[in-house]
Amino acid sequence: MKSASQNIRHLELAEIESYVEKLGEKKFRAKQVYEWIWLKQARHFDEMTNLSKDFRANLGRDFVLPSLATDATQYSDDGTVKSRFKTHDGHLVEGVLIPTDKRNTACVSSQIGCSLSCKFCATGYIDRKRNLDYDEIYDEVALLNEQSEKIYGKKLSNIVFMGMGEPLLNYKNVLKAIERITSPDGMGMSPRRITVSTAGVAKQIRALGDSKVKFKLALSLHAANDAKRHEIMPINDSNNIQSLIEALNYFYKQTKNEITFEYILFNEFNDSLKDADELIRIYRQVPADLVNIIEYNPIAFAKFTKPSEEKVDAFMAYLEKHKVNARLRRSRGKDIDAACGQLANKG
Ligand code: SF4
Repeated sequence: MKSASQNIRHLELAEIESYVEKLGEKKFRAKQVYEWIWLKQARHFDEMTNLSKDFRANLGRDFVLPSLATDATQYSDDGTVKSRFKTHDGHLVEGVLIPTDKRNTACVSSQIGCSLSCKFCATGYIDRKRNLDYDEIYDEVALLNEQSEKIYGKKLSNIVFMGMGEPLLNYKNVLKAIERITSPDGMGMSPRRITVSTAGVAKQIRALGDSKVKFKLALSLHAANDAKRHEIMPINDSNNIQSLIEALNYFYKQTKNEITFEYILFNEFNDSLKDADELIRIYRQVPADLVNIIEYNPIAFAKFTKPSEEKVDAFMAYLEKHKVNARLRRSRGKDIDAACGQLANKG
């Protein structure tokens, strides 16, 4: 018999089938259970109304069905919706719904807190408590999808792993969550609409290549030489820019997926034309299709500010002149705590 504390969503379909058969139920009942826990996103066994009461009682005796719950929600004037979710063991993580004309994007977390301590990031100031399980990541997406349908009348079109935590340090759960999100018996989303953003873990970038993943990869570069990057992202000590360039080329060779660079502009730190030159040099060494230049959303405990409009324009113009495919991304949800980690920090 299974332990009563076992999470049923951590079982594969074949394992549910063998459990169901041991109970003397028909094998197809397992498929029904599987549909309830993934496709229909049931949060209690009692919701599984096409199963007999006795069968549901057995499930409740032998398993638990924990799920993420929405703990707080903030609505920005620009349409961005930020939510704080509570895990079954009382931890807080964040997810953000970002609507635009063409797409509704969910920004999701992969860990509770983060161990990488990037200096500009609110989550970097929250110790990593634990990884999120794949069903918890799935729940984040499901809850944000519910919000998207309820508020904007349409489903999520895109998912970015840019919330709390470093997704490649929770490798197995992130990949399994994406497998469930993209599976026809899960949410059926296209992997091409999912972007995993990493602070740069070279070994795991290579592992993604070996796994021949179909989703997109973004590197949070944020500084284009090792000395500066070390200052704001301690992970650069063990994963320097050259090692990342090599890993990204390996990833591309294995998957043929082009890479996106993320680059937050910080005033008087990485916003000069010399910085732009260094960024261009890295861009030329990697099969990158895009550089997202991101407007900084200041947080209380970091020293950084955002550059003036003129400096941003000059930086963008310089990239354009050098034929870099760059896009300026305005910061969203400034009137709420939309910078990653700010809302969870409040909790
Ligand atoms: S930017 Fe990402 S990797 Fe860096 S501390 Fe924040 S959550 Fe962690």
